[in-house]
Amino acid sequence: MKFRLLSIFLFSFFTATSIYSQEITDPKLTEVWEPEPKVVSAGITNDHPPSDAIVLLEANSGLQWTHYDGTPNQWTVEEGIMTCKPGTGTIKTKEKFGDCQLHIEWSTPFEPQKQGQGKGNSGIFFQNKYEIQILNSYKNRTYSNGQAGAIYKQSPPLVNATRQSMEWNAYDIIFHAPRFDSNGKMTKKGTMTAFHNGVLIQDHVEIEGTTEYIGPPKVIAHGDDSLVIQDHDNFVRYKNIWLRKL
Ligand code: MG
Repeated sequence: MKFRLLSIFLFSFFTATSIYSQEITDPKLTEVWEPEPKVVSAGITNDHPPSDAIVLLEANSGLQWTHYDGTPNQWTVEEGIMTCKPGTGTIKTKEKFGDCQLHIEWSTPFEPQKQGQGKGNSGIFFQNKYEIQILNSYKNRTYSNGQAGAIYKQSPPLVNATRQSMEWNAYDIIFHAPRFDSNGKMTKKGTMTAFHNGVLIQDHVEIEGTTEYIGPPKVIAHGDDSLVIQDHDNFVRYKNIWLRKL
């Protein structure tokens, strides 16, 4: 009852002090026309990036990527499919990014003999620090915050939408970078929203810090940085990678 009275009071207060205090009969009064969202041509299908995207993998070259030490990308690229070459090392984009929308498709190899973290492991690191896990999590139990779609060791996916090996999975991710003040203190945590094959798996989750294999996350001040794909000794394939800066 107390709550109800309070609600009525707050509602009356709000309406008395807002534009809604007059009875509105004109629908135009609640229309917002400016700014007008700019036109972007969506891809013809999901295999085609929208017109304002930065395409990070082209038909026959992985030129947008280098290895971690800056040497040329040795991963195989054929007909738009880039395959991790185990042992050559993790790769990163030459360009550095902040807030972004990422689309990336991936497929794990057929390896019935493998299990857990050893089965189709790779990963996407935003700003070279924050990993969303790639793993063959189709009927392959491992720790929940380390399965496909996990923000590694921080946030398990809401559900497991992983397709089996050799099939293609898609991640669509909205990443907002953390903010730091001039003393290197984090003033705002980064966030991630992710869809796996169209299914929501991370719902605006705050990122605590770097995604460490051992120990808690670390907070390290940084600016824009590369998108990174992990070499974890498995022949994971990638295609149709594009990014929109936000
Ligand atoms: Mg990984």
